[in-house]
Amino acid sequence: MAEPINRDKCRILISNDDGIRSPGIQVLEKIARELSDDVWVVAPEQEQSGASHSLTTRRPLRLTEVAPRRYWVDGTPTDCVLLAVKRLLRDKPPDLVLSGINGGSNVGEDLTYSGTVAAAMEATLLGIPAIALSQDYREGEEVPWQTGEAYGPEVIRRLLHLPWPEHTLFNINFPGVAAEEVGGYAVTKQGKRAIADNLTEGIDPRGRPYYWIGPIREAGNAEPGSDVCALLDNKVSITPIYLDLTNVPVLAALRKVFE
Ligand code: MN
Repeated sequence: MAEPINRDKCRILISNDDGIRSPGIQVLEKIARELSDDVWVVAPEQEQSGASHSLTTRRPLRLTEVAPRRYWVDGTPTDCVLLAVKRLLRDKPPDLVLSGINGGSNVGEDLTYSGTVAAAMEATLLGIPAIALSQDYREGEEVPWQTGEAYGPEVIRRLLHLPWPEHTLFNINFPGVAAEEVGGYAVTKQGKRAIADNLTEGIDPRGRPYYWIGPIREAGNAEPGSDVCALLDNKVSITPIYLDLTNVPVLAALRKVFE
């Protein structure tokens, strides 16, 4: 268990995967400024949704200052956090990394694809407490950013009161309803959704076939206590995510086979 954060002297780094121009990162900046005067933004120049925890290694990266304490990187969310912590802010590293707010939920299998969650993973690997935040929305409707804006500061404040668990990030999802319709908080586990066929195919202007991967569609029943279920119940979902990926209960059976 790490020491609780001193909120008075909290330096916050913000990143995301929707890119530095996205509306969600502006909402998160507002939230962060309620918690600290020392807020830095280092985010991808282009959208990186689905980039997961990828690292750019085959070309150089540029860190460009676009406003005071505001930078973009021509790379992934992981690149952003790494450059910010190891170079830009190396003399005084952030006390907290916030990633998001993503336009769309990150629940169940999304966690393995999400660049939003990956930015928080990178911070966690670097020993910095990190929270990933995503805003669900209903298909065909506007993203209700006000919901995340209303609930975000309180969720972060409560998490900062915890002794921060090791190798752990928190994954927050705000339900896709107006703030007044939110039915409280749910502490959840990572859920599951059946991965539906989400490929669109067609013929490009030069006559060649193409395939376009769409969003994972909701399918099957949501397990009670899961992040998927919390959003269906219009609750703010809070999931602790542990970065040790070992399936511990399997170790004993495996040892019998190999040792
Ligand atoms: Mn995204």
